Amino acid sequence: MATARTLLLPEVERYLTGGVIAGVVGGEDWAGTSGETFQTLDPGSGEVLAEVHAYSAADVDRAVAVANEAFRKSGWATLAPNDRAVRLHRFADLVESRKDIVTQIEAVDAGKLPAAARGDVDNFIESLRFFADMAQHVQRRSQLAVAGHEAWTLRNPWGACGFIFPWNFPLLLMGWGIAPALAAGNTVVVKPAEDTPLSSIFVAQLARESGMPEGVVNVVPGLGRVAGAALSASTGIKRMSFTGSPEVGRLVGESCGRNLVPVKLELGGKGAAVVFEDVDVEATARLLVGAITFHTGQICCDATRWMIHKSIYNDFVTACRQALEQVSVGYQLDDATTMGPLVNAKQRERVLGYVEKGVAEGADAVVPGGIAEVAGHDGYYVKPCLLAGSLDNIAAREEIFGPVAYLTTFEQEDEAVALANDTDYGLANSVWTTDLARAARVAESMVAGNSWINAHNLFPKGVPYGGVNKSGVGGGVNSIETLFDYWRSQSIVRPL
Ligand code: NAD
Repeated sequence: MATARTLLLPEVERYLTGGVIAGVVGGEDWAGTSGETFQTLDPGSGEVLAEVHAYSAADVDRAVAVANEAFRKSGWATLAPNDRAVRLHRFADLVESRKDIVTQIEAVDAGKLPAAARGDVDNFIESLRFFADMAQHVQRRSQLAVAGHEAWTLRNPWGACGFIFPWNFPLLLMGWGIAPALAAGNTVVVKPAEDTPLSSIFVAQLARESGMPEGVVNVVPGLGRVAGAALSASTGIKRMSFTGSPEVGRLVGESCGRNLVPVKLELGGKGAAVVFEDVDVEATARLLVGAITFHTGQICCDATRWMIHKSIYNDFVTACRQALEQVSVGYQLDDATTMGPLVNAKQRERVLGYVEKGVAEGADAVVPGGIAEVAGHDGYYVKPCLLAGSLDNIAAREEIFGPVAYLTTFEQEDEAVALANDTDYGLANSVWTTDLARAARVAESMVAGNSWINAHNLFPKGVPYGGVNKSGVGGGVNSIETLFDYWRSQSIVRPL
């Protein structure tokens, strides 16, 4: 039977067992000064993978000071964009050359299937290359036609930018965040989630090895309420980005607001999938089941409220049951596994608790879910679950963050749009129909950052991705607008 330890690459084994893992500040592995550590577990086995140094607030302050010093003195901010691009591509090349290692670190730390973890590493590399290339072609100086004056605007990097990331896509989200900031000439301080710090620290070591100047990429491991709170309350940070829950996002927003630090918040979701009567029922059911079981449903933009046209509802549920029979819950590194564990015990309690409360409020357990036993692995496994009924139910309103979907029916197009928009969130929805005029109409009527047609979870580079309402404030990621976020605008005027 496979366990993390029997399957580890020698390089990964060395990384995990080489002593307490330190953050990276000023180009050095730095233990910080708190003397405290925390453990990161393999979600598939519950076993300790590694011990990591936990930074104090003072340690985070030092990292921010180092990042600002590197901004002023390392030359990174003033490099010609093409020189900066060369260095970012070198960093990307090095991550690419260690792809197997980074993939396995991410798979064991975050409970991801290797194919999914590999996709995240590829995405990190693509983010570096995409923004490195884009930054070379963007005009940073624009001449303005103004009567009686010579005037122009200039885009300059801000300085040290702070990032706080969640545990579901540690490396992919780090790439979405830091790649545009670095390409624009900023330095970065990254606080990874305490459940999944290993890939962020490893790639910061690769940034150093690739020749990035010291202090440009810093990673500060630690607890959210200590290291995360210190980073968001830092007066040295010039720009802040937080990805995580709306509850913590509010705290980060408050801290940044007090210091007048610009902040973007990428938060949770409760996405809808509106399925019309003209779809291929089996194919659509298979794709939506795939969406909620991919990374065990721990995806902010997932489709978790399914509005199914009444005329196909019974066939659709039958097709979902058939698709769910193909799902094999197991240890993430086992070849037969198609759905791995949840990230930790708390998350499993959360998922099971929401299902229980939803049923207590009257939801019909179409596919009941519950704990999944995986022989030989004491990880955090659950079975996928489908609930159905009125959307006025806790399991249909609140973000569960697990392999759970809530089904309901509709008959009219405007009814479906109203149901989809009846939420506090606004991250991503999808519409499924062969009538492309209807698809576009419904997609445009949905109140959210993203509407997808005949698919769910699409993130091509260049298409802005962000949320509205309780799903996000102040920006988004993945597009040219993101690069502009990491430049401050300056106007220069001279009377003629
Ligand atoms: P979380 O909010 O609990 O934690 C996110 C990060 O914040 C972690 O690094 C944590 O250590 C840190 N943190 C905790 N307390 C803090 C504090 N007081 N001050 C500053 N930082 C603190 O979220 P999570 O459980 O790690 O992730 C799941 C959530 O993230 C879900 O709501 C999900 O929808 C959301 N998410 C959103 C996106 C997006 O792009 N919109 C992407 C991924 C995840």
